Amino acid sequence: MKKTEIIEKAEANLLHTYNRFPVVLDRGEGVYLYDCDGKQYLDFAAGIAVFALGYHNPDFDNAVKAQADKLVHTSNLFYNEPAAETAEKLNRLTGMDRVFFTNSGTEAIEGAIKLARKYAYNKDGCTDHEIIAMNHSFHGRSMGALSVTGKAAYQDPFKPLIGGVKFAEYNDLDSVKDLVTDKTCAVILETFQGEGGIYPAEEGFLKGLRRICDEKDILLIFDEIQCGMGRTGKMFCYQHYGVEPDVLTVAKALGNGLPVGAFLCKEFAAALVPGDHGTTYGGNPLVCAAAGKVLDLFEERKLPEHAKEVGEYLYQQLEGLKERHSCIKDHRGMGLLQGLEFVESTPVGEVCSKAQDQGLIVISASGNVLRFVPPLIVEKEHVDEMIRKLENCLD
Ligand SMILES: *Cc1c(COP(=O)(O)O)cnc(C)c1O
Repeated sequence: MKKTEIIEKAEANLLHTYNRFPVVLDRGEGVYLYDCDGKQYLDFAAGIAVFALGYHNPDFDNAVKAQADKLVHTSNLFYNEPAAETAEKLNRLTGMDRVFFTNSGTEAIEGAIKLARKYAYNKDGCTDHEIIAMNHSFHGRSMGALSVTGKAAYQDPFKPLIGGVKFAEYNDLDSVKDLVTDKTCAVILETFQGEGGIYPAEEGFLKGLRRICDEKDILLIFDEIQCGMGRTGKMFCYQHYGVEPDVLTVAKALGNGLPVGAFLCKEFAAALVPGDHGTTYGGNPLVCAAAGKVLDLFEERKLPEHAKEVGEYLYQQLEGLKERHSCIKDHRGMGLLQGLEFVESTPVGEVCSKAQDQGLIVISASGNVLRFVPPLIVEKEHVDEMIRKLENCLD
């Protein structure tokens, strides 16, 4: 099928929930994608921070193929080896004790919210517990996750959402303190806000939250669906700060493109018991074999260290770009999770489109921010190529 036919067919049949770019992607190799006409794109989006290992990684592909030939699904009424192995690896890497596998990020958030409510319910038997979330956060599109997502445009058409959610300001400890009551069961936040505009947490903020949650026996939930898994230069972003959550959510990079997420918790917080929660597909052998291989390759190839090194180079190059172009207002981030904020007269959507003409894929984040979330296998020469292409768009 030709490109225009594919686009027409998609537009005629899919629910129009995305304004897609007019590009039909066909295959990938390393950090490059190819469209159906064979045009090459350098990919600094990685399927929205998903393809950490890059495209067509033979070790990953072979692990998936081997499991596909063996057994794809079992239901959670039975055990399977990949889920057991991968849960153990995840616990070791995160410092958590219990894993529940989901099919997506938003489902990991749903599970974390249910866990927090059940934990508080077990203590006092009340059914009116509250959650503190952050303005400009993003946690997903299902009703529970949307309820803790601090963005009116996403929430308003779908109200009423789940009750008892209050919003504080990110990196403002006093704004959280003001909202804490005896009913608070959880504080949920991204350790590094991605979608909301590339804002890392400040150390004092995370340490302060940890202190408040310890004092009041409130569960601290870190959403590392985007910032986790090596992207910021450590396996998990909270490991930069010496602050551990009680509950952690992961997804995006975990399956390197296969749909798998998870929420994890400390033993004391493992309040969900048989009957409380479930999923038909979650943690099936296919996605767990994929996730297990991803975790092995992260360790073998030292991808967090690599992300740190190339991320520092990316930082310098983006600083240079900012100095050369007055349309760039700010530069934020670390590792391979960085953003450039543009002035209003330069809409980032247009920059993304122009970049595609140049053979570069980049995506936006809220607040007119251009987001850089390349595969973690990216090298300095790819950063140079990206800067050249982006510079052509800005000139
Ligand atoms: C993408 C994202 C989610 C939602 O994940 P889905 O797999 O799209 O449901 C939740 N939290 C954060 C921080 C994300 O970046």
